[in-house]
Amino acid sequence: MTRFTKITASIGPNCETEEVLTRMIKSGVNLCRLNFSHDTGDVQGAKIDMIRSVSEKLNIPVGIIVDIQGPKHRIGNFETENHYPLKIGQKFILDSDPTPGNENRVHLPDVDVMKSLNVGDRVLLNDGKIELKVDAVFDDKIETTVVRGDEIWSRRGFNLPDTEINTEILTPKDKADLEYALTKKPDWIALSFVQRAEDIAYVRDFINERTSYPVKIIAKIERPNAVERITDIAIAADAIMIARGDLAVELPFEMVPAVSRHIIRECRKLNRPVIMATQMLSSMVHSEFPTRAEISDVANAAYLRTDSTMTSEETTIGDNPVNVINTMNKILDYSDTDAIANPYDWSRVDNVPENDWSRSVSSMAYLNKAVAIVVFARDTEIAMQISCRRPDIPIIAVCSENVIANQLCLSRGIFPICDPYLFGQRDAFNAVRQFGIGTGKLVIVDDDKISLRTLD
Ligand code: PEP
Repeated sequence: MTRFTKITASIGPNCETEEVLTRMIKSGVNLCRLNFSHDTGDVQGAKIDMIRSVSEKLNIPVGIIVDIQGPKHRIGNFETENHYPLKIGQKFILDSDPTPGNENRVHLPDVDVMKSLNVGDRVLLNDGKIELKVDAVFDDKIETTVVRGDEIWSRRGFNLPDTEINTEILTPKDKADLEYALTKKPDWIALSFVQRAEDIAYVRDFINERTSYPVKIIAKIERPNAVERITDIAIAADAIMIARGDLAVELPFEMVPAVSRHIIRECRKLNRPVIMATQMLSSMVHSEFPTRAEISDVANAAYLRTDSTMTSEETTIGDNPVNVINTMNKILDYSDTDAIANPYDWSRVDNVPENDWSRSVSSMAYLNKAVAIVVFARDTEIAMQISCRRPDIPIIAVCSENVIANQLCLSRGIFPICDPYLFGQRDAFNAVRQFGIGTGKLVIVDDDKISLRTLD
């Protein structure tokens, strides 16, 4: 129980068998992320069923995150060539004409984007390798100049770092995906391209109109306007994902580490778990070992006291997803242990008031040299809040419902168990024994009652 940082694994073609999933979960996966940008409907549904079944067989809680594609904008098709080189200084037009494009123009299918762009805005394609600057805006076309050139291909996604896009957070495809996903009772829904707190409120209403299941919402932060509004978005959402893939296209990439640190601090203050995502071990798609820089990236996420790291293509299409999880687990385990032994001042949250009750729980545990905090979790709130104070000892969350245990899988340092009997009996001693804790002081939290007991 020395690894406090959780592991979220993206699930894809190379880890979709029961055998591989079993080995990944045994190696440390706490949450599985299913990306609805790729498969949808029953194909994803079958994966959700498989994860639930493996989790049950192993008796290890696993959270399921359904990641909804969101309003990812794409250009239209090109003529026979399918792709064209764009040269610096040339003019290029994005227009409402659906016929195939050429080296001078291409269709811009999304009317909302056409209406939202302003003179001077940047349009980034190919992960930012192409930059277009908007020169003029008309009802049916956008005239641009190429500032950075590369090959432009049919149907490529693009980013608009300077533009407030007046579009709905859920596309028709997203609504269909979400409608289906809700029938499978996921623990978390991750929303892409969130721009404002109202986007979260809209999706929460959409969910509440369809189910009473207490599914929670993760806001993916990948746009500069979302970074600016992080406080409001974190308050509206239940958790945050730092989606560094798109974020590093929409922001100058050198800003991403600083922005990530800021988001983590803000989330801790507001009692919201936070996932650090994208390219953490990406060389391991084909390599047996991570690069030195990747090892440091994973370790630094632990030192920043993030709640969870995440794998992407290294598990979805990687040669050896189990090795990736073992590697991430090893790095996090060492770094978390070291961080606890050598706390740094910058990991503290200064803005949480001295008299905050969750801070008192954490201080009480520290001053009494407790070996664990036990929370009887009737919902996720109390345990998550204590986790955000980042105590240096495990938080054992005894839950009576699987959904609570699965959702708490995301929070740093929380070790959830779903055991209605232990929950009903308020049996803290037998709960911690399940984790190999045989002696020592326990801080026990049961709603608003906080007590100290000694196990010997
Ligand atoms: C990202 O952009 O970093 C991310 C996690 O989102 P997606 O994989 O959906 O592009």
